[in-house]
Amino acid sequence: MDDRPHLFDLTPQTLGELIADWGMPAFRAKQVLEWVYQQGVTDPQLMTNLGKADRQTLAQNLCLVRGRVLGHQLATDGTQKMLIDWSLPPDPPVSPVSPESPQNQPDTHSLNVLGDSASQTECVMIPADESKPRRTACISSQIGCAVGCKFCASGLGGLDGNLTAGQIIQQAWQLGQLKGVDRISHIVFMGMGEPLANFNEVTRAIQTLTAPWGLGISARRITVSTVGLPSQIRKLAEIDIPITLAVSLHAPNDELRRQLIPWAKSVTIDQLIDAGRDYFKKTGREVTLEYILLGGVNDQPEHAHELAHIAKRLRSNINLIRYNEVAALPFNRPADPSVRQFQHVLQTAGVNCHIRASRGRDIAAACGQLRHEHRSV
Ligand code: SF4
Repeated sequence: MDDRPHLFDLTPQTLGELIADWGMPAFRAKQVLEWVYQQGVTDPQLMTNLGKADRQTLAQNLCLVRGRVLGHQLATDGTQKMLIDWSLPPDPPVSPVSPESPQNQPDTHSLNVLGDSASQTECVMIPADESKPRRTACISSQIGCAVGCKFCASGLGGLDGNLTAGQIIQQAWQLGQLKGVDRISHIVFMGMGEPLANFNEVTRAIQTLTAPWGLGISARRITVSTVGLPSQIRKLAEIDIPITLAVSLHAPNDELRRQLIPWAKSVTIDQLIDAGRDYFKKTGREVTLEYILLGGVNDQPEHAHELAHIAKRLRSNINLIRYNEVAALPFNRPADPSVRQFQHVLQTAGVNCHIRASRGRDIAAACGQLRHEHRSV
């Protein structure tokens, strides 16, 4: 494991302090951050406004990119997914002038090195349809996940560890370097892990993702999706960054929710509603409820009626997500008519709800699925 400081963990101030310690002028920090975040250059040798000695000092003392891309898949709809092993040294530096670097090759379907899945995470770039410039990065906050949702591939092996802020930021940056992606416009914390269980690193990452010197993404275009930890939801409201909070409900009553989400045994839906209301009061931002529709499990009209009641108590909007099947898990994607009927019940009850478009269906689209398949190879 590389124990040098990771560039993506640093701010102008902390990088400036390191640079001063290494005997370089302080203004180099700004130049280095511009190379990385504005130009997409992580090879110090290509930072042409730095002297040769400073470039060498940087290369010796700073880890610019961590981890190796083990798998890179491209779906027919343009969705791209990467599997990163954080324990392995990186591929050659990523740079716009190195179009042959692995991260810039979007047509790879291979899983080329068998690493250890206990150090691997996934991230996904989801383009909007061709008429819109929206490019969403779906990133992971942890390696594996302790929540253990019964329908999710990420929870299958439990939690292997937290990602650092730098590793979280690097995923978004790396997805922005993919061929055909001008820049990432939106971020969703909907990859592996429970973001609010890695609160400090996630919130530190959000500071850089939104910073003008960092990725400069509007906080309003960042969504943190949580299974629902009431104390952490209230803590998030206190940090005063106007992100969108999404609560993964997935069931309209405690009994079913506890069957699907083991962590729900200690948190009731009423407690989540209270925390969501407090979040709204503090931030003025409406909470989104995420609801994965599992065929024959939680997709019946009576479930929709119960869900409408919750949404109205919380004054929230609802995202309906059609399940993407995972091999070895006993859940099915719901049929389209039952999805439409479910939405109809909610809309008739006056709830603002929409069905999320399924993307990347021809690659391992479900959260944690690529890592799971890689683990099973
Ligand atoms: S759905 Fe999210 S919270 Fe649940 S196990 Fe998967 S990654 Fe964890």
